[in-house]
Amino acid sequence: MIDLKQYGYTETEKPGERTLPARITAVHRERYELICQDGTLHGKLKTSVYYGREPHPFPTVGDYVFINAVEGGDSQIVKTLPRRSYFSRLDPYGGDREHGGYLEQAVAANFDTVFIMQSLNQNFNLRRLERYLTMTWQSGAVPVIILTKADLSEDLYRQIGEAEAIAAGVDIIATSIKSGEGLDSLTKHLQPGKTCVFMGSSGVGKSSLLNTLMGEDVMTVKEIREDDARGRHTTTHRQLFKLPSGAFVIDTPGMRELGIWDNNDGLTEAVSEVFTDIEEQLGMCKFSDCKHESEPGCAVNAAIKSGDITQKRWDSYMKLKREALYAENKREAIRKKSAKNQGIAIWSKRQRLADETYRKETW
Ligand code: GDP
Ligand code: ZN
Repeated sequence: MIDLKQYGYTETEKPGERTLPARITAVHRERYELICQDGTLHGKLKTSVYYGREPHPFPTVGDYVFINAVEGGDSQIVKTLPRRSYFSRLDPYGGDREHGGYLEQAVAANFDTVFIMQSLNQNFNLRRLERYLTMTWQSGAVPVIILTKADLSEDLYRQIGEAEAIAAGVDIIATSIKSGEGLDSLTKHLQPGKTCVFMGSSGVGKSSLLNTLMGEDVMTVKEIREDDARGRHTTTHRQLFKLPSGAFVIDTPGMRELGIWDNNDGLTEAVSEVFTDIEEQLGMCKFSDCKHESEPGCAVNAAIKSGDITQKRWDSYMKLKREALYAENKREAIRKKSAKNQGIAIWSKRQRLADETYRKETW
């Protein structure tokens, strides 16, 4: 018998009779892979719950759900339990176009930390780091910055210093899977029952790190889908990986394609969280309606002049604020339609597209 607590589960509501809590370990089209007290099972969504008048959010990898276990067949997923954190994206193919198009789709749920990964060679980019930090705070989890390929860095301490300057209070760990550097420092974030997701652009070393932590190659084989050449996906079926340490790593195709502002509930607040140094200055300007352009007594301009805030960081802040506002407005319109659309989403198409690799934005 498996104790689901080892999978990070805490009971927040009693399951009904003949109902079991379970965690989603993989999503394949309309079929879900689950772990529950009896081991690994497969499940399908209960139609009346997920396609009814007030549909539950579709479960994703990492979700805790209630199931009615069926022996020798697919179990029935009857409820998605509230999430403590999640990433989602707006799937432009998910909804019925005539009814608004987009459908919100969670791609990972119930993780404690986000490993924000950037490589110390060509990929190192502070502005992108600020974006990732914003997304992470907004997801409900805690960020940890992993600077990969430390063995290739030409100026490690300068780069760490630059990251520290824009991410006060965030743990920053430089790693190398070649030299083994920094890997020990990851253990405190990989405690038993805790779940982590890897975020970072292609090539930063997510698969390599996962393989290293797993102690075996779980993320190497990639193949072209035979039914259409658009999608590349891994042959590995698992998407929630249990590390030897007892911690979990979520690695889903969806995570790798996450649009920057797809999940934008509370986004402006998250931007504020990342730029507390700047927001502290905002209240100090002489005029309360200061535009921070060339007004006298502008605290922001003074901070930029004195070098407390760099011009680039200020520009980055303004840009993210504007984008967040735009995204939230757009989101509000979509949100109203989204719940309605779920019930009429074209199921197989949605699932097929969800598996595929497409990016709405490259960053
Ligand atoms: P992903 O796309 O984020 O999953 O990145 P991969 O794990 O596939 O790694 C991309 C490339 O970076 C591969 O050629 C890896 O061998 C290389 N790589 C990953 N980690 C390190 C590292 O710590 N040091 C060096 N030198 N190369 C690395
Ligand atoms: Zn000002």
